[in-house]
Amino acid sequence: MNKLTNDLSHVTEADRANVWHHLLQHKSLETTDPRIIVKGQGLRIWDQHGAEFIDAVSGGVWTVNVGYGRESIANAIRDQLIELPYWAGSGGTIPGALFSEKLLAKMPGLSRVYYANSGSEANEKVFKMVRQISARLHGGKKSKILYRERDYHGASIGTLAACGQEERALQYGPYPEGFVSVPHCLEYRAQWEVESYGERAADAIEEVILREGPDTVGLLCLEPVTAGGGVIVPPKGYWQRVQEICKKYDILLHIDEVVCGMGRTGTWFGYQNYGIQPDFVTMAKGVASGYAAISCCVTTEAVFEQFKDASDKLSYFRDISTFGGCTAGPAAAIENMRIIEDEGLLENTVAMGERIMANLNALMEKHKVIGDVRGAGLFAGAELVADRATKEPMAEAEVSRVVAEGAKRGVMFGMTNRSLTGFNNTLCFSPALIATPDDIDAITDAVDGALTAVFG
Ligand code: PLP
Repeated sequence: MNKLTNDLSHVTEADRANVWHHLLQHKSLETTDPRIIVKGQGLRIWDQHGAEFIDAVSGGVWTVNVGYGRESIANAIRDQLIELPYWAGSGGTIPGALFSEKLLAKMPGLSRVYYANSGSEANEKVFKMVRQISARLHGGKKSKILYRERDYHGASIGTLAACGQEERALQYGPYPEGFVSVPHCLEYRAQWEVESYGERAADAIEEVILREGPDTVGLLCLEPVTAGGGVIVPPKGYWQRVQEICKKYDILLHIDEVVCGMGRTGTWFGYQNYGIQPDFVTMAKGVASGYAAISCCVTTEAVFEQFKDASDKLSYFRDISTFGGCTAGPAAAIENMRIIEDEGLLENTVAMGERIMANLNALMEKHKVIGDVRGAGLFAGAELVADRATKEPMAEAEVSRVVAEGAKRGVMFGMTNRSLTGFNNTLCFSPALIATPDDIDAITDAVDGALTAVFG
């Protein structure tokens, strides 16, 4: 029972009357109830009508990595809040110092943590750092920020300027200058007929750099695995070439780990699957598994050193994030990390990731509407097509029906919905890293049932 109320029909009406939900076309709530999630335990959630679901998307947006009902995280937050809830980030706190130490131990080559409280905000910090470095070292010229088609970095105006997803960005401009897109790297939707697609897709970044002028480009910002843009795992050869290109033109490499960070792909961070060394890593969702708001912008000592010139009054990073000083975030993050480590959740993620991919590949044999299956760790996608030969994307309304049929079968999975060019057609699976073989099979059984219900 919730301590605030037992009257769930009142909650439903209070929600309908008062809440403006994220990403929702509210017209739909004129004919259906808003879904109120009232409880979670492990991988399972319950709505206001008592219906139980397996949550195959970790809180809807790949966040609750260690699952629901973690009393040890709640206790860590509680203890810290009683001791000290907040101190501005210009000073220090015990959990802030200790979490950054533990985090950096997992990230060789990186040495500074800047705290904020959302993924968008952490990414904005990187953009500002790069622009400030450009101002100091390059007279402001090396200030362009490259981002990739189909990637997403946040909802603020600055991060939307770096948005590769039309539906999210359109109509919110004008945007700041100096953001330039590079082609996506989804081999299933190949743009080049070549043997080594990964290298070719990376070369396309170099072409953009040469077109723009290498002395104008300061940053390349990429998701390690494109999440909401369609669960796109870059092909073999991509990352090594990307790193070479960044080194060649003195461009800083920023990996946006807001989704992949904290174990989602079976390593602490997605970039660690590829043997590359970024200059910036941002993270948010899984850092405290949603138990508290926290995001981090992590960078190298070389970047940090640029902000320490005592002879220049403007050289320090003139930035603040009020709630980057909340102690609940790092207190929760320390316990979250301990759980991942002590329960062997990285290893489980690798094993369960293999299982979900095997199951989805088996479903591909049976269901002709599955055009492609891709994933890394517990982060998988199944792209639905109306025609396997032409790869015509399945219409969004049909994909939504599959998701609704999944929910009828007690499993909530997601779908990409950020494109205006027809690519809202990938089913997404990102259960908590505690998933068991039975959970994985239940998820893919529901997909099987839902596809049969919709397409026969
Ligand atoms: N970066 C990526 C890859 C994301 O998927 C998201 C959110 O979904 C963000 C950044 C923005 O994070 P937030 O919503 O916490 O601002």
